[in-house]
Amino acid sequence: MSQAPVLKSSPTASSHAPGVGDDFEFVEVIRGYLNEAAELVDIPGYVREILGQPKNEIIVNFPVKMDDGEYRLFKGYRIQHSNILGPYKGGLRFHETASLDDFKALAALMTWKCSLMNLPLGGGKGGIKFNPRDHSRRELQRITRRFIHALGSNIGPDYDIPAPDMGTNAQTMAWAMDTYMNTVGMVSKQATAGVVTGKPVTSGGTEGRVKATGQGVVHCIREWAERSRFDLKGKKLIVQGYGNVGSHTAVLLSHLGVSLVGVGDHTGYLYNAEGFNSYRMQEYVAEHGSISGYPNGERIEREDFFAIAADLFVPAALEAQIDQTEARALQVKLVAEGANGPCTPSGEKILLERGIDIIPDVIANAGGVTVSYYEWVQNRNSEKWTAEDIDERLELAMKTAYQNMMDFAEANGCSYRIACYGVALQRLARVYSEREIFP
Ligand code: NAD
Repeated sequence: MSQAPVLKSSPTASSHAPGVGDDFEFVEVIRGYLNEAAELVDIPGYVREILGQPKNEIIVNFPVKMDDGEYRLFKGYRIQHSNILGPYKGGLRFHETASLDDFKALAALMTWKCSLMNLPLGGGKGGIKFNPRDHSRRELQRITRRFIHALGSNIGPDYDIPAPDMGTNAQTMAWAMDTYMNTVGMVSKQATAGVVTGKPVTSGGTEGRVKATGQGVVHCIREWAERSRFDLKGKKLIVQGYGNVGSHTAVLLSHLGVSLVGVGDHTGYLYNAEGFNSYRMQEYVAEHGSISGYPNGERIEREDFFAIAADLFVPAALEAQIDQTEARALQVKLVAEGANGPCTPSGEKILLERGIDIIPDVIANAGGVTVSYYEWVQNRNSEKWTAEDIDERLELAMKTAYQNMMDFAEANGCSYRIACYGVALQRLARVYSEREIFP
């Protein structure tokens, strides 16, 4: 006789990742930036209040059969922050420190990002609190499929469109799309490919999406370098997080003659004064899952990584990695935020006081959602755009947003971060004033 299934809850973990100060409340930090920018933009109090909260907070608990035959209960989230500009849009994160409050912050960031980039999309974010590295490919597939099934009609190609984020990738999106397609009925099936973006190109994805976020970071760095009369050739880069965003940024910067001298991920930090081969390291991580064991690098401590003499720093891992200590240690001219929320407010203050420029997350990593939008449009119209077409459109979109950020910062004497929020809020406020509130 078979035994009754055992149901375990997914392991809980501290909601703080290494480097995160105990007093860092991401959602409060994001709300603080919103309020600061709202002082500069003439928006009615009720709009500020609406945007200070997500519209919907969805939590699902769902069981998944593990490879050993046992069942485990997982907790999944989807936060829908705003859809005043279009369908909710934002990534799915699989990470052991994921929390409801962090997803609220990340979903709000997506609203500002889509508004700043002038996309007809709103903001959302979600995911599951677990460590994907602890699971086999088969388990990851079942976890993803059960999560998408549990979300049910809370997502959809005209309603809420997830994409990859930390711990998820094109493969995750292929499973997500396939699961959704199989729940909508035969007739609608083919019309729902746009339920997620960041899919493999052969499964309805777009050219250029895999590198898109890194490409956007690089466009921003180029804009900054041009305005600062800073020649990128021969300059040094350090990168924290060598996943999708970090590795593509490093590879694309290497084409401009920038050398990667320091790199870190969840397994530790490496230094090479001569510069790593960023492409080979990317291949190594794809094969081994981390930088651990990569040859040609000296293992260093986290605190030494932040003190490396370099020119550019791209944080591309978790939030709140640059607090006061790291901000005092950094020996770079620019921090380009590939990750969402990598600087704490007090870390940011110190960086700015020290004359270190920051290209904020809202614009720096917006290349991902911008190309996701191109994918969604192609899915809707059954079109296939070329890689060159995507590259050209993205470059123009990033340059335009960068100019808008600069204009706002100059006109208001504020930081680039507040300028991004300001530009985003102006558009949102205009739409609210035109549409007003139902009924
Ligand atoms: P990923 O899962 O591909 O890579 C994450 C990297 O961070 C890995 O190298 C991992 O080892 C490292 N990391 C995890 N914990 C760490 C720790 N405690 N210390 C140091 N490194 C650690 O994720 P990704 O898609 O590259 O996302 C990275 C960041 O970029 C996230 O903040 C994400 O929200 C943001 N982002 C991603 C996209 C996208 O298109 N993927 C778009 C916009 C923003």
